[in-house]
This record gives sequence, C-alpha cells and structure tokens, in this order.
Amino acid sequence: MAARKPKPLVAGNWKMNGLKASVKEVNALNAKLKKAGRVPCEVLICPPMPSVQAFAAKAKGTKVAIGAQDCHANLSGAHTGDVSAEMLKDVGAKFVIVGHSERRADHGETSAEVKAKALAAHRAGITAIVCVGETEKERDAGDTLKVITSQLKGSLDDGFTAKNTVIAYEPVWAIGTGRTPTPEDVAKVHAHIRKRLAARFGSDGDAFRILYGGSVKPSNAEELMSVPNVNGALVGGASLKATDFFGIISAYL
Ligand code: PEP
Repeated sequence: MAARKPKPLVAGNWKMNGLKASVKEVNALNAKLKKAGRVPCEVLICPPMPSVQAFAAKAKGTKVAIGAQDCHANLSGAHTGDVSAEMLKDVGAKFVIVGHSERRADHGETSAEVKAKALAAHRAGITAIVCVGETEKERDAGDTLKVITSQLKGSLDDGFTAKNTVIAYEPVWAIGTGRTPTPEDVAKVHAHIRKRLAARFGSDGDAFRILYGGSVKPSNAEELMSVPNVNGALVGGASLKATDFFGIISAYL
C-alpha cells in the first residue's frame, strides 16, 4: 500500500513582532486564500502571545489557523510570566511551536524541556511543532545528522503521533540570515528525520509533517517545498506581510 502523503503545513512564526493592528495581515491573507479557491495545504500564523486570542477570534472558520510560539509544561501554578497549553487552547490556538532554536539558545531550553512542552500541548489538545536544527559550528564539524538524531531522541516521546506533532527542521545558521542549505542538503536531513520517525513510530512515521525553516521566501519556496520529505515550511521574517507569506503558500497552489 502506498504511504499516506502528509498534507503540507505552511506556518508563520512572527516572533516578537506585530501589534493588535497587525491582524490586518491575517485578514489580507485570508482574502488572498479565499480568492485562490482550493488550498491544498494548512496555513498557520503564530503571533506574539498577547495577540493570540484576538487573532484566533478573527480567523475562526477561515483558512488560517492561529497558534502560539511557546508554552509552559505545567497546567497551572506559580510560574510568573508563563502560559500553559490549556490557556492557549482556551483562547483558540490550534498549534504551539516548541523548542525553537531562539528559545533553546536564549532560554537554555533542553530537549527534555521541549518534550515536556510538547506533551503539555498534547494534554491540552494542541498540535506541537517541535523544532530541531544544527548550529553552523556543528554543521562545519560534520555533526548535523548526529545533532538532529540527538534532538529528536530527546524531544519526542513514544506516544507522539503524526496527528499531534509536526517536526520543523531549522538549521540555526539559516534562520534570519538569507542563507539556505542546498536542496540536496535539505533532502539529506529530511530523509534522515523520516528514517528516525519510522524507526520510532513505525508506519505512522511516514505521516508526520516535516517542515523546513530558515530564510524561506517567495523566491525559493517552490524549490525548497519540492524537496522529498519536505511537507511545508516554518517561516519567520517572510510571514509578517500577507503578500510575502502568500507568495510562499503559492508554492502549493
Ligand atoms: C524561524 O525563526 O523559524 C525562521 C525560519 O525565520 P526566518 O524565516 O526569518 O529565517
């Protein structure tokens, strides 16, 4: 039997950018998607935390889902400044990014913590987007696959499924730099991730979406999205403006 082909996901990570009024970009994107007719991929925007609720309310029933960029592992408690996955679910978030390299670097998040956050997302009924990726130093040392293997091993749990989890491969050196790996390099890492997923989750491993992230823009989206085992994109800078983000989504139209 032929393997199920995962429905691609094009996700925007707005990081610490955008105010309430930036919801106009979500509205503009929706208008473009509506005009495009059938959209064969899922579309997601993850704005900063204070905008999640308002954006989710605006996007309800449209082709754009709203998610968040992080969550705490616990349900509630004395964790000043943190937000639980249940709180995100409560305000309409459908996805949450966990283990983004900026959080791993800026907040010292370990793979064990990333796994706990992904488990919290599942507990709340939200899909976790688990990020992995090597630094430039690790790449130059020839350690890319070793690093990815270790991050996957530490960040995933046995109960993870293709339904509740998405993997995002984001080479750290490609994030926000305008540099991208060659399609051959992307293919190699994505094939490796697919193999690791199959080894751990059996046939469900084929159904996981593996996103590529790192300087995706309208001009390179088609090439990157056509690489085998690339099932969508995680996009930073180019997701802030509806026109650019739609240009990337257009790789699937
Ligand atoms: C990201 O931060 O997830 C990202 C991929 O950023 P950019 O697209 O700006 O490189």
